[in-house]
Amino acid sequence: MSRILIVNPPTPPGPWYFQKDRAAGLGTAAPLRPKASRPAPLAPHDLAQIAGYALDAGWQVEVFDPVALHLDAAGSLAALPATAPDVVAVRLALFSLEQDLVFADAVKARFPASQVILWGNVIHFTVKDWAGRSRADSVCFGEPEAVLLPFLRGTDTKGLIPLTEIGPTWRTGWQNVKELVDVPLPAWHLLPLARYAPDGDLSQLVLHLQTSLGCSVACSMCPYFVLQGRYRQHTLARVLAEMRYLRSLGVMHVQFRDANITERPELPRALAEALIAEPLGLTFTMETALENVPPDDLRLYHRAGLRGLITGIESADPATLALINQNPEWSAPISANLALCAALGIDVTTMYIVGFPHDSWASIGETIALAKTHRSRFYSVSVMTPYHGTPYRSQALANGFVTTDAPYRAYTGFSAMGGTHSLTADEVDAAYRAARATLELHSRWHFPPAGLVPQVSHWLRFAWLAATTAPARLSARWRARLAPVNALVSHAG
Ligand code: SF4
Repeated sequence: MSRILIVNPPTPPGPWYFQKDRAAGLGTAAPLRPKASRPAPLAPHDLAQIAGYALDAGWQVEVFDPVALHLDAAGSLAALPATAPDVVAVRLALFSLEQDLVFADAVKARFPASQVILWGNVIHFTVKDWAGRSRADSVCFGEPEAVLLPFLRGTDTKGLIPLTEIGPTWRTGWQNVKELVDVPLPAWHLLPLARYAPDGDLSQLVLHLQTSLGCSVACSMCPYFVLQGRYRQHTLARVLAEMRYLRSLGVMHVQFRDANITERPELPRALAEALIAEPLGLTFTMETALENVPPDDLRLYHRAGLRGLITGIESADPATLALINQNPEWSAPISANLALCAALGIDVTTMYIVGFPHDSWASIGETIALAKTHRSRFYSVSVMTPYHGTPYRSQALANGFVTTDAPYRAYTGFSAMGGTHSLTADEVDAAYRAARATLELHSRWHFPPAGLVPQVSHWLRFAWLAATTAPARLSARWRARLAPVNALVSHAG
């Protein structure tokens, strides 16, 4: 039996929370506040998937996740298995790409006879920049379902490209799987699950589950469309089997990791009806473009176990929405659905971006003012990022907002890589910090916990947060010469 080692390289040291599953697998690195406790590491869904594919194809599988074990690069190399596997599959991400490549080289030096395969969506648009200096053997040039799954089954090696073939003029198509058929389940049981759970408590562990790949909305800044392509769904039977499997592991809550789970509503509707008819004891969170969800569907999903919902609002500016390929008229159905979520008791996370090409202090202030009216329990603010391959990257390069020589680790998703038509990069950063602090305080103000002791601790933390983030908010106010940015700095109104 052939043996494969699937490796998640260690996290670069620093004050961030690095989530490789985000941004279509490119990863994001959210800044951690000084003295903030670090959340449990994100359970790596894509590692579990590849492990499942290999297991199903009859391989002997080992998964090595130094992130879960809190190992640095030296510790990770020391903890590698003693004997060489036939294949080592090393996962690459964008923010950590330089460190990942160095780590993969070290793995190859340790196991020179093993075939070292690099995989991850970051390969698509960057491989020509670094293929000549990597010592790995090959790259997975496409979705794992299109390349690694047939390779592991021994049926096809198309899309598995030797690095020696890739030069500056090399060109070939990224392999996307046409339909999701006969795709094995992830093998979560091969990962140290308690390491990803808060306090090691499996009942609090949230695992990702994908019912689909891709999104056809094609927003100009979004890496999902360019990396995953058009929308494809798994079968209902497979999704239910995966949910039963997760429940058997002791998991109580899953997060659907689809970019837009309701793009075709037939599957989520059928799934909800099946979960109502035969409850599994699982609750779930879904991420979706809320403007397309009929209210009756939201009620159905809630009856089936929907307790958390994540949706992108992006900006209050109609011109910006039109520019990124969204429709300003979506605002009314989104607001109506957010009100319904509040009435049903669904915890909503609304997402916003600052740093759009036409963003100014005034437009960002309006976005934050709009966000406050949504009263969602959680807010996520990120910074417009010129991800490789996106239409926005071409616009940002043409406008001189960014240059092509930015280091990979600048792509955190939460730091300004350039300015806008009216703001410098420093001002975008200041606006981001002010917006994030303002909305965090706003949500804490409106959603205090129940019970005297938790409330005392909550308000002490609120006061500390208000004091420590005041400089960012005051700085934003000063820069904006007061008027347009007032909405940014009135923290709890
Ligand atoms: S709707 Fe969401 S996932 Fe789809 S392209 Fe737009 S930002 Fe990306």
